[in-house]
Amino acid sequence: MNENKRYLFGLLAVLAVFLAFSLLKKPDRAGSVATCGECATIAMPNLEGNNMDIPDKEYKKRLSPEAYRVLREKGTEKPFSGKYYYNEEKGVYVCGACGNPLFTSKTKFDAGCGWPSFYEPVSPESVRTQTDRSLGIERTEVICGKCSSHLGHVFDDGPQPTGQRYCINSVALDFKKETGAPVKTETALFAAGCFWGVEAQFKKVKGIIKTTVGYTGGHIVNPTYRDVCTGKTGHAEAIQVKFDPEQVSYGELLDIFWEIHDPTTRNRQGPDVGSQYRSAIFYKDTQQ
Ligand SMILES: [Zn+2]
Repeated sequence: MNENKRYLFGLLAVLAVFLAFSLLKKPDRAGSVATCGECATIAMPNLEGNNMDIPDKEYKKRLSPEAYRVLREKGTEKPFSGKYYYNEEKGVYVCGACGNPLFTSKTKFDAGCGWPSFYEPVSPESVRTQTDRSLGIERTEVICGKCSSHLGHVFDDGPQPTGQRYCINSVALDFKKETGAPVKTETALFAAGCFWGVEAQFKKVKGIIKTTVGYTGGHIVNPTYRDVCTGKTGHAEAIQVKFDPEQVSYGELLDIFWEIHDPTTRNRQGPDVGSQYRSAIFYKDTQQ
Protein backbone atom coordinates (compact mmCIF):
# COMPACT_ATOMS: atom_id res chain seq x y z
CA MET A 1 0.00 0.00 0.00
CA ASN A 2 2.78 2.39 1.01
CA GLU A 3 4.66 1.41 -2.06
CA ASN A 4 1.64 2.32 -4.23
CA LYS A 5 1.29 5.72 -2.60
CA ARG A 6 4.92 6.55 -3.22
CA TYR A 7 4.53 5.53 -6.87
CA LEU A 8 1.46 7.77 -7.20
CA PHE A 9 3.27 10.77 -5.68
CA GLY A 10 6.21 10.22 -8.00
CA LEU A 11 3.93 10.15 -11.01
CA LEU A 12 2.19 13.34 -9.87
CA ALA A 13 5.53 15.11 -9.39
CA VAL A 14 6.66 14.21 -12.91
CA LEU A 15 3.35 15.43 -14.29
CA ALA A 16 3.65 18.73 -12.39
CA VAL A 17 7.17 19.39 -13.74
CA PHE A 18 6.02 18.58 -17.27
CA LEU A 19 3.04 20.93 -16.92
CA ALA A 20 5.22 23.76 -15.59
CA PHE A 21 7.61 23.46 -18.54
CA SER A 22 4.84 23.42 -21.09
CA LEU A 23 3.42 26.63 -19.53
CA LEU A 24 6.80 28.35 -19.58
CA LYS A 25 7.24 27.57 -23.26
CA LYS A 26 4.00 29.36 -24.13
CA PRO A 27 4.74 32.65 -25.87
CA ASP A 28 3.92 35.78 -23.85
CA ARG A 29 0.89 37.75 -24.89
CA ALA A 30 2.68 41.03 -24.39
CA GLY A 31 6.06 42.30 -23.42
CA SER A 32 8.08 39.87 -25.46
CA VAL A 33 11.04 41.00 -27.48
CA ALA A 34 11.23 39.18 -30.75
CA THR A 35 14.42 37.18 -31.09
CA CYS A 36 14.83 36.96 -34.84
CA GLY A 37 17.90 38.88 -36.04
CA GLU A 38 16.73 42.39 -36.94
CA CYS A 39 13.58 42.26 -34.81
CA ALA A 40 15.65 41.69 -31.67
CA THR A 41 16.12 45.42 -31.32
CA ILE A 42 12.44 46.30 -31.62
CA ALA A 43 10.97 47.08 -28.25
CA MET A 44 7.47 46.09 -27.40
CA PRO A 45 5.75 47.68 -24.43
CA ASN A 46 5.05 45.26 -21.65
CA LEU A 47 1.42 46.00 -20.96
CA GLU A 48 1.18 43.62 -18.04
CA GLY A 49 4.10 44.85 -15.98
CA ASN A 50 3.91 48.51 -17.05
CA ASN A 51 7.56 48.18 -17.86
CA MET A 52 9.07 49.53 -21.06
CA ASP A 53 11.61 47.51 -22.93
CA ILE A 54 13.56 50.21 -24.70
CA PRO A 55 16.81 49.02 -26.26
CA ASP A 56 19.98 50.38 -24.74
CA LYS A 57 21.13 52.12 -27.93
CA GLU A 58 17.91 54.10 -27.89
CA TYR A 59 18.71 55.44 -24.40
CA LYS A 60 22.24 56.28 -25.54
CA LYS A 61 20.81 58.28 -28.41
CA ARG A 62 18.26 60.09 -26.22
CA LEU A 63 20.27 60.89 -23.12
CA SER A 64 23.31 63.03 -22.41
CA PRO A 65 26.37 60.98 -21.38
CA GLU A 66 25.92 62.10 -17.75
CA ALA A 67 22.19 61.31 -17.74
CA TYR A 68 22.94 57.91 -19.30
CA ARG A 69 25.59 57.20 -16.67
CA VAL A 70 23.17 57.96 -13.82
CA LEU A 71 19.91 56.62 -15.24
CA ARG A 72 21.14 53.53 -17.00
CA GLU A 73 24.37 52.70 -15.17
CA LYS A 74 23.21 53.62 -11.66
CA GLY A 75 25.65 56.48 -11.35
CA THR A 76 25.44 59.39 -8.91
CA GLU A 77 25.91 63.04 -9.83
CA LYS A 78 28.16 65.24 -7.70
CA PRO A 79 26.25 66.82 -4.78
CA PHE A 80 25.21 70.48 -5.23
CA SER A 81 25.95 70.19 -8.97
CA GLY A 82 22.48 69.35 -10.28
CA LYS A 83 20.26 71.94 -11.94
CA TYR A 84 17.18 71.17 -9.83
CA TYR A 85 18.74 71.22 -6.39
CA TYR A 86 17.87 74.88 -5.89
CA ASN A 87 14.81 74.91 -8.14
CA GLU A 88 11.81 76.38 -6.31
CA GLU A 89 9.46 76.69 -9.26
CA LYS A 90 6.07 75.00 -9.15
CA GLY A 91 5.66 71.98 -11.37
CA VAL A 92 6.22 68.27 -11.84
CA TYR A 93 9.50 66.36 -12.00
CA VAL A 94 9.40 63.56 -14.55
CA CYS A 95 11.74 60.68 -15.39
CA GLY A 96 14.55 61.92 -17.62
CA ALA A 97 14.48 58.67 -19.58
CA CYS A 98 10.78 58.11 -20.24
CA GLY A 99 8.84 61.18 -19.04
CA ASN A 100 6.93 59.34 -16.32
CA PRO A 101 5.70 61.85 -13.67
CA LEU A 102 7.60 61.15 -10.45
CA PHE A 103 7.45 63.99 -7.92
CA THR A 104 5.74 67.36 -7.58
CA SER A 105 7.31 70.58 -6.32
CA LYS A 106 4.86 70.48 -3.39
CA THR A 107 6.73 67.56 -1.82
CA LYS A 108 10.23 68.94 -2.50
CA PHE A 109 12.24 70.07 0.49
CA ASP A 110 15.77 71.17 1.21
CA ALA A 111 17.50 68.27 2.90
CA GLY A 112 20.86 70.04 2.74
CA CYS A 113 22.36 66.96 1.10
CA GLY A 114 23.08 68.41 -2.34
CA TRP A 115 20.46 66.44 -4.25
CA PRO A 116 16.79 67.32 -4.88
CA SER A 117 14.79 65.70 -2.09
CA PHE A 118 11.12 64.81 -1.92
CA TYR A 119 9.05 63.27 0.82
CA GLU A 120 6.58 61.50 -1.45
CA PRO A 121 6.26 60.36 -5.08
CA VAL A 122 3.36 61.45 -7.29
CA SER A 123 1.69 58.04 -6.78
CA PRO A 124 2.73 54.69 -5.27
CA GLU A 125 3.19 53.31 -8.80
CA SER A 126 5.32 56.15 -10.15
CA VAL A 127 8.49 54.76 -8.59
CA ARG A 128 9.64 51.35 -7.40
CA THR A 129 12.30 50.45 -4.87
CA GLN A 130 14.81 47.65 -4.60
CA THR A 131 17.66 46.72 -2.29
CA ASP A 132 21.07 48.09 -3.28
CA ARG A 133 24.19 46.59 -1.68
CA SER A 134 26.65 48.23 -4.07
CA LEU A 135 28.72 50.22 -1.56
CA GLY A 136 29.01 47.46 0.98
CA ILE A 137 26.01 48.89 2.79
CA GLU A 138 22.37 48.18 2.30
CA ARG A 139 20.40 51.05 0.79
CA THR A 140 17.03 51.30 -0.89
CA GLU A 141 17.37 52.22 -4.51
CA VAL A 142 14.61 54.19 -6.23
CA ILE A 143 13.87 53.35 -9.84
CA CYS A 144 11.33 54.68 -12.32
CA GLY A 145 8.05 52.77 -12.05
CA LYS A 146 7.73 52.77 -15.82
CA CYS A 147 11.16 52.30 -17.40
CA SER A 148 13.13 51.03 -14.35
CA SER A 149 15.86 53.65 -14.81
CA HIS A 150 17.90 54.46 -11.70
CA LEU A 151 16.80 57.69 -9.97
CA GLY A 152 18.44 57.71 -6.54
CA HIS A 153 17.79 56.30 -3.08
CA VAL A 154 15.17 56.66 -0.38
CA PHE A 155 15.94 57.05 3.33
CA ASP A 156 13.63 57.13 6.33
CA ASP A 157 14.94 60.40 7.79
CA GLY A 158 12.63 62.71 5.86
CA PRO A 159 10.04 65.18 7.12
CA GLN A 160 6.39 64.46 7.89
CA PRO A 161 3.84 63.48 6.70
CA THR A 162 5.77 60.46 5.34
CA GLY A 163 9.11 60.64 7.16
CA GLN A 164 10.80 59.64 3.91
CA ARG A 165 13.54 61.34 1.95
CA TYR A 166 13.68 60.49 -1.73
CA CYS A 167 17.16 61.65 -2.64
CA ILE A 168 17.10 61.97 -6.42
CA ASN A 169 19.73 62.90 -8.99
CA SER A 170 18.87 66.11 -10.84
CA VAL A 171 20.23 64.71 -14.07
CA ALA A 172 17.77 61.81 -13.83
CA LEU A 173 14.89 64.28 -13.93
CA ASP A 174 13.18 66.67 -16.28
CA PHE A 175 11.03 69.48 -14.96
CA LYS A 176 7.62 70.46 -16.31
CA LYS A 177 6.81 73.93 -15.08
CA GLU A 178 3.24 74.50 -13.91
CA THR A 179 1.22 76.20 -16.63
CA GLY A 180 -1.49 78.75 -16.01
CA ALA A 181 0.34 82.00 -15.49
CA PRO A 182 -0.45 83.82 -12.26
CA VAL A 183 -2.99 86.63 -12.48
CA LYS A 184 -1.36 89.96 -13.27
CA THR A 185 -2.83 92.41 -10.82
CA GLU A 186 -2.84 96.20 -10.59
CA THR A 187 -3.51 98.51 -7.69
CA ALA A 188 -5.52 101.69 -7.37
CA LEU A 189 -5.67 104.13 -4.48
CA PHE A 190 -8.71 106.27 -3.71
CA ALA A 191 -9.87 108.57 -0.95
CA ALA A 192 -13.61 109.17 -0.74
CA GLY A 193 -14.52 109.74 2.89
CA CYS A 194 -14.61 107.22 5.71
CA PHE A 195 -12.57 104.31 4.42
CA TRP A 196 -14.80 101.60 5.92
CA GLY A 197 -17.76 102.73 3.86
CA VAL A 198 -15.67 103.02 0.71
CA GLU A 199 -14.15 99.60 1.29
CA ALA A 200 -17.60 98.02 1.69
CA GLN A 201 -18.59 99.42 -1.72
CA PHE A 202 -15.47 98.23 -3.52
CA LYS A 203 -15.64 94.77 -1.92
CA LYS A 204 -18.84 94.11 -3.89
CA VAL A 205 -17.10 94.57 -7.23
CA LYS A 206 -16.13 91.50 -9.26
CA GLY A 207 -12.43 91.44 -10.13
CA ILE A 208 -11.30 93.06 -6.90
CA ILE A 209 -8.85 90.75 -5.25
CA LYS A 210 -7.97 92.62 -2.08
CA THR A 211 -8.75 95.90 -0.35
CA THR A 212 -6.63 97.62 2.28
CA VAL A 213 -7.59 100.74 4.18
CA GLY A 214 -5.19 103.31 5.59
CA TYR A 215 -4.04 106.89 5.53
CA THR A 216 -2.14 108.48 2.71
CA GLY A 217 -1.16 111.82 1.23
CA GLY A 218 0.16 113.29 4.49
CA HIS A 219 3.54 114.51 5.57
CA ILE A 220 4.37 112.27 8.55
CA VAL A 221 5.27 108.61 8.40
CA ASN A 222 2.91 105.98 9.87
CA PRO A 223 0.39 108.30 11.53
CA THR A 224 -2.12 107.01 14.09
CA TYR A 225 -5.86 107.59 13.95
CA ARG A 226 -5.38 110.26 16.64
CA ASP A 227 -2.65 112.01 14.59
CA VAL A 228 -4.87 112.13 11.54
CA CYS A 229 -7.89 113.39 13.54
CA THR A 230 -5.97 116.54 14.45
CA GLY A 231 -6.30 117.44 10.78
CA LYS A 232 -2.69 118.63 10.86
CA THR A 233 -0.95 115.65 9.29
CA GLY A 234 -2.45 116.21 5.86
CA HIS A 235 -3.54 112.59 5.53
CA ALA A 236 -6.67 111.34 3.87
CA GLU A 237 -8.52 108.14 4.70
CA ALA A 238 -7.94 105.99 1.69
CA ILE A 239 -8.45 102.56 0.28
CA GLN A 240 -5.96 100.57 -1.76
CA VAL A 241 -7.62 98.25 -4.22
CA LYS A 242 -5.80 95.30 -5.76
CA PHE A 243 -7.65 94.26 -8.90
CA ASP A 244 -7.52 91.94 -11.90
CA PRO A 245 -7.58 94.24 -14.96
CA GLU A 246 -8.94 91.35 -17.06
CA GLN A 247 -12.14 91.46 -15.01
CA VAL A 248 -12.50 95.10 -14.08
CA SER A 249 -10.74 98.08 -15.63
CA TYR A 250 -9.28 101.09 -13.87
CA GLY A 251 -11.86 103.19 -15.70
CA GLU A 252 -14.70 101.14 -14.22
CA LEU A 253 -13.19 101.57 -10.75
CA LEU A 254 -13.17 105.34 -11.34
CA ASP A 255 -16.87 105.20 -12.25
CA ILE A 256 -17.56 103.47 -8.94
CA PHE A 257 -15.40 106.01 -7.15
CA TRP A 258 -17.52 108.90 -8.49
CA GLU A 259 -20.79 107.08 -7.77
CA ILE A 260 -20.21 106.15 -4.15
CA HIS A 261 -19.45 109.58 -2.79
CA ASP A 262 -20.06 113.25 -3.34
CA PRO A 263 -16.84 114.85 -4.54
CA THR A 264 -18.39 118.31 -4.48
CA THR A 265 -18.38 118.59 -0.68
CA ARG A 266 -14.95 119.87 0.19
CA ASN A 267 -13.18 118.04 3.08
CA ARG A 268 -16.39 116.32 4.02
CA GLN A 269 -18.50 113.22 3.34
CA GLY A 270 -21.89 113.24 5.02
CA PRO A 271 -21.42 113.47 8.76
CA ASP A 272 -17.63 113.05 8.54
CA VAL A 273 -15.96 116.43 8.46
CA GLY A 274 -12.23 117.11 8.18
CA SER A 275 -9.49 117.20 5.57
CA GLN A 276 -8.92 113.47 6.12
CA TYR A 277 -12.32 112.87 4.47
CA ARG A 278 -11.45 114.74 1.30
CA SER A 279 -11.76 113.21 -2.15
CA ALA A 280 -8.60 112.19 -3.89
CA ILE A 281 -7.24 109.84 -6.53
CA PHE A 282 -3.65 108.82 -5.87
CA TYR A 283 -2.43 107.58 -9.21
CA LYS A 284 0.24 104.91 -9.44
CA ASP A 285 1.51 105.60 -12.93
CA THR A 286 0.98 107.90 -15.86
CA GLN A 287 -1.57 105.54 -17.44
CA GLN A 288 -3.87 105.90 -14.45
ZN1 LIG B 1 11.32 56.28 -16.58
